[in-house]
Amino acid sequence: MNKYKILVVEDDTAVRNLITTTLETQNYTYLACENGKEAILEAVSHNPDVVLLDLGLPDMDGVDIIRKIRGWSNMPIIVISARSDDRDKIEALDAGADDYLTKPFSVEELLARLRVALRRLSYMQGKLPQEQTVFENGSMRIDYTAGCVYLSGEEIHLTPIEYKLLILLAKNIGKVLTHTYITEAIWGHSWENDVASLRVFMATLRRKLEKMDHENDYIQTRVGIGYRMVKV
Ligand code: CA
Repeated sequence: MNKYKILVVEDDTAVRNLITTTLETQNYTYLACENGKEAILEAVSHNPDVVLLDLGLPDMDGVDIIRKIRGWSNMPIIVISARSDDRDKIEALDAGADDYLTKPFSVEELLARLRVALRRLSYMQGKLPQEQTVFENGSMRIDYTAGCVYLSGEEIHLTPIEYKLLILLAKNIGKVLTHTYITEAIWGHSWENDVASLRVFMATLRRKLEKMDHENDYIQTRVGIGYRMVKV
């Protein structure tokens, strides 16, 4: 028996049935609902391991649901949407979604994304060994256990993706990480759109870091290659 509990939020009955049937074949436990109000209620009361979220719901925009859930939880959220526009994707990811699947999708792809999300979840929950609990570089301090980042003694507020990016760079300090390496680590795949999204996230992350510490430039861009964190 698969112990993971998945919350499926989708107002289209056919798509919802396709997803829940797929989950059943893999022995996932699931909860299904068809609007935003129920989605938030289910997320709060059942604390699912992963949320599969449609953006176009009758009562609420899916992006607002992501923001609400992120107010209290880091549970992985995979957006499943008919909107394939880059801005919609970036808005959802920036609000805190972990991944984005565009309709129509194959059930194999859905299951693959789900496995990636669950692998990251078990990593975050410390089921895999974590060698170090605090990272320090210049005025930067990352407390991996608490999931907090401090610069010049003050906590900085990062979105879940910005935090993952920073951790990835910190854990590989001094090394140049390629766009492909980073997008695969963050989203589980590296498509052209992912590299474009990565640039946007990296730019906002760097702005946040610079705002708190103007003296040090922690992240270096290697044009056409990738990024690295430098030891300051
Ligand atoms: Ca819909």
